[in-house]
Amino acid sequence: MTDLTVRTLEASTKTIPQDTVAALRGKLRGTVALPGENGYDAARIIWNAMVDRRPALVVRCLGTADVVNAVKLARDENLLVAVRSGGHNIAGNAVCEGGLLIDLSLMKSVRVDPASRTARVEPGATLADFDKEAQAFGLATPLGINSTTGVAGLTLGGGFGWTTRKFGLTIDNLISADVVTADAKVVRASEKENQDLFWALRGGGGNFGVVTSFEFNLHPLDPEVLSGLIVHPLENAGQLLSDFRQIAREAPDELTIWVVMRKAPPLPFLPTEWHGKEVLIFAACYSGDMKEGEKAVKALRALGRPIADVISPHPFTGWQAAFDPLLTPGARNYWKSHDFTDLSDGAIKAMLDAVRALPSPECEVFIAHVGGAMARVAAKATAWPNRDAHFIMNAHTRWRDKAQDSACVAWARQLFEATAPFAAGSVYVNFMPGDENDRVEKAYGANYRRLAEIKHRYDPDNLFRMNQNIRPTK
Ligand SMILES: Cc1cc2nc3c(=O)[nH]c(=O)nc-3n(C[C@H](O)[C@H](O)[C@H](O)COP(=O)(O)OP(=O)(O)OC[C@H]3O[C@@H](n4cnc5c(N)ncnc54)[C@H](O)[C@@H]3O)c2cc1C
Repeated sequence: MTDLTVRTLEASTKTIPQDTVAALRGKLRGTVALPGENGYDAARIIWNAMVDRRPALVVRCLGTADVVNAVKLARDENLLVAVRSGGHNIAGNAVCEGGLLIDLSLMKSVRVDPASRTARVEPGATLADFDKEAQAFGLATPLGINSTTGVAGLTLGGGFGWTTRKFGLTIDNLISADVVTADAKVVRASEKENQDLFWALRGGGGNFGVVTSFEFNLHPLDPEVLSGLIVHPLENAGQLLSDFRQIAREAPDELTIWVVMRKAPPLPFLPTEWHGKEVLIFAACYSGDMKEGEKAVKALRALGRPIADVISPHPFTGWQAAFDPLLTPGARNYWKSHDFTDLSDGAIKAMLDAVRALPSPECEVFIAHVGGAMARVAAKATAWPNRDAHFIMNAHTRWRDKAQDSACVAWARQLFEATAPFAAGSVYVNFMPGDENDRVEKAYGANYRRLAEIKHRYDPDNLFRMNQNIRPTK
């Protein structure tokens, strides 16, 4: 083994002697993976194929002690450091070029305590890992809609999905977190300990340290939920979306309806003549009593003349993975997102114009339906400020061929500009692509100043900067 050349925080490089790497290896339960070594590619390859970075070394952690040793090395040697859990973030900050990668993807334990209805979750666990363990006891906490996403990044950004309107954001269900801070100390953050850090972790992303364990509240949720898709021709979408807007406004907390507009995938229940044609899909989930759910989805089912309606009881863990086949890793992806307090006619028109000009068969416009319990928490109660958002639009731009990069990115940006006049001005940090660093302050709005002060307290040198970065401010 030779000495390593590693990028520093100041974007220069320095040499790390092989003895230092050997000493690190000796301290770990996990491993160090250098380029070409076992586990190196598994750690550095992430969901978005647009991101292809090569760290100088990867620490594949198996526990908090490994994380402490990795952070110590980064801090003592002033190394550029990235933190990876599920590797799903669109911006690709989970991996750095030439620096030290702290890989948490092997730390996957989920322990549910059914008596206290709580769970302890390690950062490498995916949403599927968490749901499967919790549902073994008929329990759940709100998570996202793609089961291969990491619990860690999702939680630190805020986290919402099918049960958010009923049970709040993922962070609203966080009880505590164990954090390795920039000075390589292990601290607990909760309502009782390090309250400022706990406030900041709930939406402030990976800015404040490396979380090695999350403790969550769980809620009773039957293993079957009324859920499924209703598929319509796109030509009726204008009327459908204005009717949807009204239904969404009046929906009980248990009912969540997301909209997806795209070319129809070859779903087995769709007649083949519709495959590849533009469609509007309502994806609905009722997190509660099945009979009440039937009543709640009636108005949605009565809209227009659908091509297919497959709303019925489904296993919750299956529904949580329903969109997985459309969101597999390995494609090129670029996202643009806005929050909306309501869906104005102008926003609907701009979205429909974009769906009529999709640049690739896998591109789609998603409209998430939030609010409910999420909106009943004060904007200053956690770092996540966007409690007024009722709809979150995300342009999921997705393609395979590098030659299409500029056309696809341009499509998303155009949709973003066209919908901006109707949007709330805020954005969910977890939906921000890598070129939106100038939008971070806006994303946090009135909470940014406090976040910057807490960042200064816990990470004054900005060691953790591979994220939607909050600059330390006194
Ligand atoms: C297909 C798809 C669907 C999605 N759907 C939803 C959805 O329905 N709802 C929703 O809320 N979000 C959704 N997201 C967004 C998702 O929440 C973010 O991408 C999130 O960052 C993923 O977490 P991860 O652990 O997989 O990410 P990673 O890429 O591993 O990490 C993202 C960033 O978080 C920080 N980080 C990660 N782990 C830690 C840690 N342990 N300690 C400190 N910092 C850490 C780092 O800064 C890192 O760069 C979706 C993403 C994808 C790709």
